[in-house]
Amino acid sequence: MEPDARWLATPATRGNSDRRRPAAAASVTFGGRAGPSKGAAGVTGKGGPGLDPRRAVPRTDTVLADPRLKDVDRARAKAAVRVQLERVRRGELPPQDVVPAALDALHRAGMRPVLNATGVVLHTNLGRAALSPAAVEAVVAAAGHTDVELDLDSGRRAGRGRAALDALKAAVAPAQAVHLLNNGAAALVLVATGLAAGKEIVVSRGELVEIGDGFRLPDLLESTGARLREVGTTNRTSLADYRAALGPRTGFILKVHPSNFYQRGFVSSVPVRQLTRLDAPVVVDIGSGLLAADPLLPDEPDAATVLREGAALVTASGDKLLGGPQAGLLLGRADLVDTLRRHPLARALRVDKLTLAAFEATLRGPTPTWQALHAPVDALRGRVERIAQAVGGEVADTVAVVGGGGAPEVELPSVAVALPEDLARPLRLGDPAVVGRVEHGRLLLDLRCVPEDQDKALTAAVVRAAGR
Ligand SMILES: *Cc1c(COP(=O)(O)O)cnc(C)c1O
Repeated sequence: MEPDARWLATPATRGNSDRRRPAAAASVTFGGRAGPSKGAAGVTGKGGPGLDPRRAVPRTDTVLADPRLKDVDRARAKAAVRVQLERVRRGELPPQDVVPAALDALHRAGMRPVLNATGVVLHTNLGRAALSPAAVEAVVAAAGHTDVELDLDSGRRAGRGRAALDALKAAVAPAQAVHLLNNGAAALVLVATGLAAGKEIVVSRGELVEIGDGFRLPDLLESTGARLREVGTTNRTSLADYRAALGPRTGFILKVHPSNFYQRGFVSSVPVRQLTRLDAPVVVDIGSGLLAADPLLPDEPDAATVLREGAALVTASGDKLLGGPQAGLLLGRADLVDTLRRHPLARALRVDKLTLAAFEATLRGPTPTWQALHAPVDALRGRVERIAQAVGGEVADTVAVVGGGGAPEVELPSVAVALPEDLARPLRLGDPAVVGRVEHGRLLLDLRCVPEDQDKALTAAVVRAAGR
């Protein structure tokens, strides 16, 4: 549904905030003297006194045929028009203003939907993971009042977000306890604060990474008042390095998965299962949020395996390979998770009901992220051929990547519709926006991350962009 600022305004101010429609504003000014309800009636009163506003409501199809809406995706146009027709029905909008108001709402929408044809599965600039249809449904259902902290059976208060937490625990058998926070960074902050404020976090120099856009893990950790005890070198760290650093000041050993780069050559690091033999809790930041091993991503650590290897705690993101909403996962030893869950800071990092709803539903089925990763290249080729034929483009073999979310060494064979480079901007500015990538003077629309049910919308967007 379209966001609608109407609900932010009190009835008396609705019409006045509508500066773009002088007729409506004038009627409300008039009606203002007699009260808001009369003011609203004044808007439709133009049709003649006593005219039922519902009789003046145009048909959706008639409005959709308006040439001013021809560049807008049908489904989005329909949704936007319906909202405005509802306003006409309530007498808040003159029928002739439906199209301008719908266009206004579509363009006013702060964030616009984008078809991700970049070939980057988890694109930070495009909001990382796209939610599954089940997760979207769950968000909509939870948007009103919901039993997030209430047991409907007994009528008593219940554990916040217990359905999501139970689902996560069930999905990662070796986790004694689980907790959800705002994002991966929040999970790390809580662990560092709760287990190492005023103490030391022992960590390899090769794992003090920058995640992106200037976000550096060491800065985040030190901001909590914990001190970093760096061990080893950039390329090599041994078990002896860790052992020598341990002492009474140790809070925990931290192992960070460098999720956006990899090292080759004269390198060595200490596997989790060896670290857990040392005399300190081992916290593993796996980053990507894989809950169980995926053969497609052999070097990507997963929560279940790392916990089985003896990690005390695992932290991860919800909107990377897990394919859910932005969230931070904290899994592992019950005593530690419980201590952290009760820490005063936990309240500042807690997730809202929409995240809890989306997260629980995400665990129920395949996510768009999983589907993009696992789509067979032949299926992509068939789709590309059909679209290329419809729009006069060419078929190009490409390589897609996982992106900021992990697995930097993995290359995913893929296929794209190749188009003239100068279509890139009109496609980005279309509705829905289509973002591809420009390579060697061509625009490539890589289908690996475009859900199949969007092929029609993509084709229509290209036709519109080319016709401009
Ligand atoms: C992405 C990532 C983070 C940060 O997670 P956010 O959910 O973006 O806050 C931390 N550590 C690693 C290893 C990561 O890959």
